[in-house]
Amino acid sequence: MINYPPRISLAQTPTPLHPLKRLQESIGGPLIWLKRDDLTGAVLSGNKVRKLEFIAAKAKQQACSALITCGGIQSNHCRATALVAAQLGFKCHLILRGIPSDQQLSDGNQLLDELSGCTISYHKPAEYFTHLDDIFAEVSKGFAERGDKALVIPTGGSDGDGLWGYIAACEELKKDFAQHQINPSVIITASGSGGTQAGLVVGAQLFDLAATVYGINVCDDEDYFVSKIAADIQEWQQKYPEQAKQLNCQPDQSKDLINIIDGYVGKGYGIASDAVIDTIRLLARTEGIVLDPVYSGKAFNGLLMEIANGRFNSSADATPENIVFIHTGGVFGLFAFKEQFAAAKS
Ligand SMILES: *Cc1c(COP(=O)(O)O)cnc(C)c1O
Repeated sequence: MINYPPRISLAQTPTPLHPLKRLQESIGGPLIWLKRDDLTGAVLSGNKVRKLEFIAAKAKQQACSALITCGGIQSNHCRATALVAAQLGFKCHLILRGIPSDQQLSDGNQLLDELSGCTISYHKPAEYFTHLDDIFAEVSKGFAERGDKALVIPTGGSDGDGLWGYIAACEELKKDFAQHQINPSVIITASGSGGTQAGLVVGAQLFDLAATVYGINVCDDEDYFVSKIAADIQEWQQKYPEQAKQLNCQPDQSKDLINIIDGYVGKGYGIASDAVIDTIRLLARTEGIVLDPVYSGKAFNGLLMEIANGRFNSSADATPENIVFIHTGGVFGLFAFKEQFAAAKS
């Protein structure tokens, strides 16, 4: 048994795990099971809520009264953090990358951020990328001057604490697999800041899942994610030495457990190709499930391309493999892509 650190219940869990039978009938290939983490809540939906259960508990434990985090204008993580802050009575400040134009009305996640009553500062990408630490320090100082202690939450809530979210999800997956009497060989997620994959890698070891964990990166490249995820795992090992003993992995060995499928970033983070838009349409039409263009849709499109190229595809006479894809949510980000959906009508 694993000793969890303090946790505040925020996510609607367990989320369903179900097979995409109609998709398989339509395109063939292995059976893909979807772990519906898009259903962790209505507006608190997606993968970030699982991480925030542990991050918010840490904030309470450290007697913080405010949360600060950062991300793109359509960041799902920022939206989830702002709403969690409102729910639990924290003040909240979001450091967002990009300057919205005057004519543009707030859409998707940004609209929800504003509803939550948090404060927001917008920064030019060049300033954001070079001075993020300074911006965090300045916002923290502002809170301190007003008598508030703020917890700084890194991009995507991906660090040694946020990692617990997907360790706990692996305990849930273990029960799902027993209930459905399956033993999947593969678990796949979109990787954006790496914390989901880091948690899955550690959790799969701790709960003895037979599956190999793969991340399909939606930005940066394989080298970046291998180092980033290994660093998050190391931080977790240092912060939680008791639990790390059960991991049976030396801090310098975690890189061997990190599998990245690179090649589906396309033109960059937050830019979706027409193939991604088509994949989103395909799943909506065959299964009534909506992916997002930035993360889950881009990664799912990558998975379908890998399968089409023969990966994860069992030979005709073998039992079809079971693949688990984590639907990490992101539906609100979809609405910021309405022009592209209109242009690619079919
Ligand atoms: C943040 C996010 C991801 C990526 O998760 P990381 O833990 O940051 O790698 C995937 N999908 C959605 C919808 C997200 O918001």
